[in-house]
Amino acid sequence: MLIIKDISNLKLYLEAYENKGYSIGYIPTMGALHQGHGELIKQSQKDNRKTIISIFVNEKQFNKPEDFESYPRNKGKDYDFCDQFNVDAIFEPSQEEIYQENETQLENKYFKNILCDDFRPNHFDGVVTVLNKFFSIIKCNKVYFGEKDYQQLKIVEKFIKEKHPSLELVSVPTARSEEGIAFSSRNEKLSKKQLQEFELFHKASLKFMSDLDKDINIDQANTLAKEFIQKQAIEKFDYFEFRNISDLTLDGKIQDTKLFYAIYKGQVRLIDNINF
Ligand code: AMP
Repeated sequence: MLIIKDISNLKLYLEAYENKGYSIGYIPTMGALHQGHGELIKQSQKDNRKTIISIFVNEKQFNKPEDFESYPRNKGKDYDFCDQFNVDAIFEPSQEEIYQENETQLENKYFKNILCDDFRPNHFDGVVTVLNKFFSIIKCNKVYFGEKDYQQLKIVEKFIKEKHPSLELVSVPTARSEEGIAFSSRNEKLSKKQLQEFELFHKASLKFMSDLDKDINIDQANTLAKEFIQKQAIEKFDYFEFRNISDLTLDGKIQDTKLFYAIYKGQVRLIDNINF
């Protein structure tokens, strides 16, 4: 397994395989790798001859400096993880390698003023800015994203169609622990007690969903969701609501939705989405 730090070496590496006609799958990550990332790697390996993963904690997508500083980083473990999964190459550039001084920031145009975009101003601007950079550097055939970050997935889908149309986006279902919560790098930040409380909250949300009348519309479901979330033992939440799966609006019947939540355990912000 290669660990590549600079763009010029990465380009040479990719060109060699491109010339051989190998298909290349690419997985963008921020490291602190877990089984969710593992599912993306496995899917890429099924689809492609070579799989490359990037590890880059992208400062531009953190709207709070303290969140960027405290984001989990565990380089040594990530290398072992990729090695065990037989990843072909890790691209792990520095901030300076990716961003020039006075770098222009792209502006996300899609799915704005809802869900995470509402609570993390400029977050998705940072996401599309860094992806635009990485997609220009990493010439690959397919790129892999998790449904765990569903709004991001929908935005990236539109962004790729507009700016990188030769690239094929593959989405991968959310990988979950036995207790049902989504694997996430941020789970590492939870104490044992917080983790257990989060698992209970997630289970209660599933029960709340399964008790709902299947014929109600999204508005009615969201009125009940509001009552439910206010009774939960959580310190803070950003949103807890049903939205239409295809366009993330509040239109339609509950059958066509996912429940989206962003809640806090201590300082840790946890997001998930659950199919109705
Ligand atoms: P991150 O390192 O958190 O930026 O995530 C990198 C990619 O892994 C994104 O496409 C995420 O949606 C995806 N991902 C993160 N957690 C999971 C999970 N539990 N299941 C599936 N994909 C995930």
